[in-house]
Order: sequence, then C-alpha cells, then structure tokens
Amino acid sequence: MTLQKNTTMLNLILPLLLLLTPADSLSSNSLEENKQEKFEVDNKTIPWEIKDAVVEALAYFPELAGVRIDFEFKDRINGAVMQAQPRVLTLLVTGKEKREYRIKITRELDLGDEILAIENVPHDALVGWIGHELGHIMDYKDRSTVNMMHFGMRYMMSNKRLTEAEIAADTYAISCGMGHQILTVKNYILNQEGFDEKYRNKIRDLYMSPAQILSLQEELEEDEG
Ligand SMILES: [Zn+2]
Repeated sequence: MTLQKNTTMLNLILPLLLLLTPADSLSSNSLEENKQEKFEVDNKTIPWEIKDAVVEALAYFPELAGVRIDFEFKDRINGAVMQAQPRVLTLLVTGKEKREYRIKITRELDLGDEILAIENVPHDALVGWIGHELGHIMDYKDRSTVNMMHFGMRYMMSNKRLTEAEIAADTYAISCGMGHQILTVKNYILNQEGFDEKYRNKIRDLYMSPAQILSLQEELEEDEG
C-alpha cells in the first residue's frame, strides 16, 4: 500500500474513529495503563482480576489463538459494559492476519444501591459477556479494512446494523459452544436489579432475546447431532 493511499484512507477513517472511540484510543499506552498489572498469555494481556474468566472464554475460540487482544479496564464506556474494537493503526498498516484488537471492560458496574467490581459478576455471566466480545472479534477478523469502515459507519447510524452485529457476535459465541454462558449473561442483564434502564432497554430491543438464544443453540446442537 502506498503512503498516499494510507493517508487518504486515514482521512476517511479518522472521523469514523472519533465517533467510534473516545479520545483515549489514540494514546493507548497512557501511564495509567502501564501501571496496571497484567497477566500475559498467547499474545493477550489481561487484568489479573478477570484472568480466569477470560482464559476460560478464550478456550472456546481456538481461531483466536495467537491473535493480539488486550483486555483493558475502563472507568466508563459510553452505552456499554464491554466493547471490542480493532486497533485502528493495525487496520491501516497490516494485513488482516496481523490486526490487533482490544476489549474495553468497565471496571465497576453501577447497580444503583451497589457498586459491583466486574470480577464479582456471577462467573458464567462474566465468561459469557467476554465470549460475546470475542464473538465480535471473530466477526471483525475476516472483514476487509474497507468493509470494516463501511460496517462501522452503518453500525453507528442504524439500529438494524447494530442488531446484525450483535446477533453475529452472539451467534459466533454460541456456535463455539458458549450457549449456556451467553444465555446466562443475557438473563443477568435483563433480571439483575439496578441496571440502568436505558442500557437494559437497548439489550432488550436490539440484541438476541433469551428465547432466540435457546432456539439457535438447539438448532446448532441438532446440526451437530
Ligand atoms: Zn456486542
């Protein structure tokens, strides 16, 4: 790819980036992050507090072996508890197979009466939550850069595209054998007292429902058997 092409692409992508990610995405190695203790395995960096849950979820995704993924705690993520993203520079300068990703994870859930550290979310729900994000990375992994840009824009602008992306993520995770955990986290979000209603409504309206998860899981099991 020529330098000029890169620059043009950067011009195209930059506005999208600013939409997609808060300013911190451009300076991922802030001092704050460097201070955090991380567990490192197979090209992944993982905060110690959630290491077991992440390693358990990763075991369902052999195709992500060796893929660079950084799991990062954040104080707050706009409209989400976790968020998977490609590292933008790796979208521009390397081939698909060398792309790097990160999964942002809210450090503490505000449940109204209670502040719950993320590692204290019931284990299977936490594993399912991480599995859903890994499902997004499976989905991103095979998209071309141009496709990813278009996808990102549509995702921002239409609920239909958002729904498609979320269904894709759940479908990847369920087909990797995580049906139980995906169902557990869905029920956790829908039933746990104290979740922000706006967030809960988004999950209810735009994401797969527990019934849809169950029927997909059954279909996949029938296919296998
Ligand atoms: Zn998602």
